[in-house]
Amino acid sequence: MSLESPAFRHGEYVKKTTSIKLIKELRVKYEWLENFLIRVIRNCVDDIDKAIKRAWSPQIIVERNRVIAKAITPKQKVKAFRLGMPKFAKKGINESFSIREKEKITIKDRKFKVEKMPFYIKMRNKIRFSGVVKQVTISLQGGKWFASFLIQTLDKHEEEQKPRSASVGVDIGIKNLATLSNGIVFPKSQPLKKQLKRLRQLQKKLARQVQYSNGYEKTKKRIARLHYFVSQKRKAIIHELTDYLVSNFKKIAIEDLNVKGMIKNNKLAKAISDVGFGMFREILTYKCKLYGVKLVLVDRFFPSSKTCSKCGAKKDDLKLSDRVYTCNSCNLVIDRDLNASLNINGWRQV
Ligand SMILES: [Zn+2]
Repeated sequence: MSLESPAFRHGEYVKKTTSIKLIKELRVKYEWLENFLIRVIRNCVDDIDKAIKRAWSPQIIVERNRVIAKAITPKQKVKAFRLGMPKFAKKGINESFSIREKEKITIKDRKFKVEKMPFYIKMRNKIRFSGVVKQVTISLQGGKWFASFLIQTLDKHEEEQKPRSASVGVDIGIKNLATLSNGIVFPKSQPLKKQLKRLRQLQKKLARQVQYSNGYEKTKKRIARLHYFVSQKRKAIIHELTDYLVSNFKKIAIEDLNVKGMIKNNKLAKAISDVGFGMFREILTYKCKLYGVKLVLVDRFFPSSKTCSKCGAKKDDLKLSDRVYTCNSCNLVIDRDLNASLNINGWRQV
């Protein structure tokens, strides 16, 4: 069924029970489906069902209607109608499946297998946590297979070796990845910059090539591989930064940026999506919870760059290109990003 069909738009979608019945019939009809774990298919049905239910939840409907009302061009309208709707999975992108029954997963030291698998698969690392395996997700990323385990653990993170400082403000920037209010700067990764440039070149090349020709397929493979490396690099950078933050501070303040809006409208777009601000916030949020660190989201309208961190005066004519903040009231001269991070650290909810 198409997502554009009128039935779907009105929330009349295929019911879960119908899908399950259909799968049973298909398994009788097509022998090759026998090679799949029935649970894997059932989990897919569960996921789709959840996605559809969410798409028709009252909050999403309100939000969607709001966006639809604002849409003017046909392109905007199509996009608005799709807000919160499940997307069709493209073959070759993010291919994965999950097994959620612990009795079907066997782990032996550095090997694991799931039901119907004729042999054990060697893992690169031993599982680091002790606890019950709740789920395994097997995915194909950049031509390599991965298994990730969801484990319910009782391991508490009580690694309180070093005393933590009270609080820190973090400014995510264009010039540097992050500037902290204690003066520490995390620079942008040069290898990542290079990879992103190469990625854009390859994407341009692909657009010029004849679809499905040998060269086209080759470029596509290279793009997939590079995508994978870029995403791994991004994750590694973000983990390094967030690990430093949660292990050194009791309270962390960041700006509550509207990433999607910024990516759409702003020159900062490329810089912000290079860093992966959304992912940064997501990872920081869960780590703060895990380590009992307080995360403060600074109001997105708070002028962190334009305010003087010493006397509080506001400088409305500060340009994006001004790398140094010079205060006209108290004569403070300070790095622009450091000034912002100090303000973020000092922000208090009114
Ligand atoms: Zn000042």
